[in-house]
Amino acid sequence: MIFQGSSYIDLTHTITPTIPTWDGSCGFKLQILLDYNDCTTEVKFHVQRFEMVAGIGTHMDAPAHCIAGANTIDKLQLTSLCVPCVVIDVRTQADAYYTVSWQDLENFENRYGIIPAGSLVAINTGWDRFWHDADAYRNNHKFPSISPEVARWLVNRKIVGIAIDTLGVDRPEDGYPVHPILLGAGIYIIENATNLDKLPPVGAFTIALPIKVANSTEAPIRFVGIIP
Ligand SMILES: [Zn+2]
Repeated sequence: MIFQGSSYIDLTHTITPTIPTWDGSCGFKLQILLDYNDCTTEVKFHVQRFEMVAGIGTHMDAPAHCIAGANTIDKLQLTSLCVPCVVIDVRTQADAYYTVSWQDLENFENRYGIIPAGSLVAINTGWDRFWHDADAYRNNHKFPSISPEVARWLVNRKIVGIAIDTLGVDRPEDGYPVHPILLGAGIYIIENATNLDKLPPVGAFTIALPIKVANSTEAPIRFVGIIP
């Protein structure tokens, strides 16, 4: 096995009908179309149907989420979805109004070195501790986010993706300044990540695999950390 001896960390929340979502109404439905005991054949099946918004749970925004004509989820390259990651821990500072600043990045780079091109940057705010209380997690769209300066810094570093453990990288009251900067540079955004505290600051890898729907601008993902 390629990753023999490695640890695997699930960075994904489980999707249920009561998880927090952007507009506060989860809307996830799992229907049973066929139950085992409905089957008259010898082999019995259980068939389900999902109904959900594309940006549900731990999900990815593709560049086309903000930028018309840019890459959709199905066009993203696997080489950008399986990459080295760095984790920036801002848990001690991050209250609901916290905005990750260039100073946080500078502190990180002074300690761990320049963020390598081609990596995914995960922002650990600790906000996922509220996940099981949808109202507290959504908090009227008051949650830790990142500043446009940070987004531009990360564009200069030529990262491929960013992940955060809140509903979004920016807040409505700020006018969503960060989405277009990152997505405009072809950097995908992962929102509602979890377990980022289980990854080291440097040295791990992430695999972020969205379901491959043609022309989708967002999609739920299975997000996995691998510590060699
Ligand atoms: Zn987003």
